[in-house]
Amino acid sequence: MEKVILIKYGELSTKKDNINFFLKKLKENILYALNDLEIEVTYDLGRMFIHTNENFDKVIKRVKNIFGIHEMSIGYVINSTDFDVVKDETLNLLKEHEFTTFKVESKRSNKKLNTTSVELSKNLGAHILKNIKGLKVDVKNPEIVVNVEYRINNTLVYFEKMKGLGGYPVGTLGKGLLMLSGGIDSPVAGYLAMKRGVKIEAIYFESPPHTSIEAKNKVKSLTKKLAVYNNDIVLHVINFTEIQETIYKNIPHEYLITIMRRMMYRISAILASKRNAKILINGESIGQVASQTLTSMSAINEVVNIPVIRPLACFDKLDIIDVAKRIDTYETSILPFEDCCTIFVPKHPVINPSKEKCHEYEELIPYKDLIYEAVKNHEIITIKAHEEESEFKDLL
Ligand code: ATP
Ligand code: MG
Repeated sequence: MEKVILIKYGELSTKKDNINFFLKKLKENILYALNDLEIEVTYDLGRMFIHTNENFDKVIKRVKNIFGIHEMSIGYVINSTDFDVVKDETLNLLKEHEFTTFKVESKRSNKKLNTTSVELSKNLGAHILKNIKGLKVDVKNPEIVVNVEYRINNTLVYFEKMKGLGGYPVGTLGKGLLMLSGGIDSPVAGYLAMKRGVKIEAIYFESPPHTSIEAKNKVKSLTKKLAVYNNDIVLHVINFTEIQETIYKNIPHEYLITIMRRMMYRISAILASKRNAKILINGESIGQVASQTLTSMSAINEVVNIPVIRPLACFDKLDIIDVAKRIDTYETSILPFEDCCTIFVPKHPVINPSKEKCHEYEELIPYKDLIYEAVKNHEIITIKAHEEESEFKDLL
């Protein structure tokens, strides 16, 4: 009998023709997330197994952050389909547990068995009652559920079920570029996109000396927190100072944010295309600030053709905060370092910007040259979830 970590897929099992592609990716992601440990992964269309002699808690802690897993258990593989063997082995396992009430749940993927699941449960339950003194069956609220799966070549036994994150394995839906600020919203947007199977890279706009090194470090540590779901994240840091100062000096202040965000979108779209990212992702939420009215979004969005996905578009702030706390980005996000938007915020930003005015004002600055320089000279940092970060340039 082998002790394994047992994985159930949930939503993935609905991917009829494509299921092998999704499972292969899930296996790859598990191997990558645990690449410093000795593990082996096997799977079939119903279950995935992690085989290892490592500390199970350590392995489970990491596997819990992998999308595409509906449920996990510590399981025991009995290399037999013989009911008498299963009865004895299950009994041996139960002797290691302390409990007084239990129930048995059986599942048959081996349809050759000519007994029903209910009968299998009853027979095994009777065997347990007979051999361990002082036990009672409680179908409503048992201390232990004895799950037994009768498969074609072997039998699985497991007790506790741990909930996984669900979603699709990261990478199965391609790549997206996350506009990541140091705020509360964008890390949550990134998390939700990853949950749908999107592998992310991140782009951060900094404006030194108006923004501090602490603000940049905050974005790096948010990236590291997101990396546990994505395995590693390439973070692109764009120096936005010259663009921002040029806008500040030449453009009516009520349009500062609108034009600045149009520049951010343009740069993000260029980088996305260089990095083969199919979408931009950001933390915009309808109505949250002046640049997130529908008219503003439309005026800002018009400068790019790439789809812009806004996972938080219809979230209330309090709901965003709940997710941020759950994924452990909140405490970092609320650290008080200014990001580049907050420094150049005008007193009265336009709420309904006109596209014509945007075009007119942009004529006043050599924005194409500035964008070209910013993209050409940007810094690239790879942030790994479980190792020290490594910095490298010249990836493009
Ligand atoms: P957040 O809480 O994520 O900072 P916000 O409510 O402060 O968002 P804005 O500052 O208007 O809203 O930004 C909207 C979105 O634009 C952010 O969620 C993020 O995706 C992107 N963004 C803003 N500033 C930056 C930046 N300096 N670098 C990269 N992306 C940014
Ligand atoms: Mg912000």
